[in-house]
Amino acid sequence: MSCSCHSCCPEHASVPVVELKDVNFAYQNGTPVIENANLQIMPGESGCIVGPNGGGKSTLLKILLGLLPIDSGSVRIFGKTPEEARRRVGYMPQYHQLDAAFPVSVMEVVLMGRVSKRTLFGFRRQDKEFARSVLDELGIADLEKRSFAGLSGGQRQRVLIARALAGEPDLLLLDEPTANIDPGAGEQFYLILEKLRKRMTVVTVSHDLGFVHRETDLIICVNKQVVIHKPADFTAETANEIYHHNMSLIKHDHSCFCHCEGGSL
Ligand code: ADP
Repeated sequence: MSCSCHSCCPEHASVPVVELKDVNFAYQNGTPVIENANLQIMPGESGCIVGPNGGGKSTLLKILLGLLPIDSGSVRIFGKTPEEARRRVGYMPQYHQLDAAFPVSVMEVVLMGRVSKRTLFGFRRQDKEFARSVLDELGIADLEKRSFAGLSGGQRQRVLIARALAGEPDLLLLDEPTANIDPGAGEQFYLILEKLRKRMTVVTVSHDLGFVHRETDLIICVNKQVVIHKPADFTAETANEIYHHNMSLIKHDHSCFCHCEGGSL
């Protein structure tokens, strides 16, 4: 019988959650967007992707999701191709990629994240119960019947996380989760993520460097090349300087290709 653990058995604990080897990618115009990228995220680790606008952060997330075919190299998620691993991955896209005015209820939005578990006859009672339990965990059970369009930014972010969690992922990918929410809601959001990180790998793209410093095991700097920093390289002082200036202030004592001078975080 095959093992069904989420990487807690010794065999699976040694399989990287994410593994990129020498990955190259260009959109159709042929300009390289990701070059020779190598990345490994092991079970128990979480990562935060940072870099200038246009550096390739969202592209990298889409590569992890198998939405963009790479030109060369290899991508493995839980030791499989992104397509094979898709059921184990939850994704929250950037806020502006969603039509917030689309007339759907909160429950309908959350159930969209459970489509892979739907039967020929639609969602089962247990799917709705699971969706409710996720809303409850995120502290928004009372919003179930509300229209998504009528929610505040912070509430919508939580609903979108609920949608990503509804598929019961082992890897959660979040693109700019704190964009468009006020600082109070951001604080609650961090607490939710801290909880989630205890049971799954969370990889976020973030402009919020306070978030980077607090929440992550790996800082994944993306600007065509991918360079990994441990938080120990990334002091509060460094984070402050980066926050006010630019990413070139990351303490690079090796050949880092970030070159984010002038890039806005
Ligand atoms: P980031 O998320 O770091 O802001 P992106 O991954 O969105 O960066 O974009 C990286 C580069 O790829 C940018 O130069 C952007 O203009 C380009 N790009 C993004 N999406 C597309 C696309 N669908 N077609 C062509 N170029 C794209």
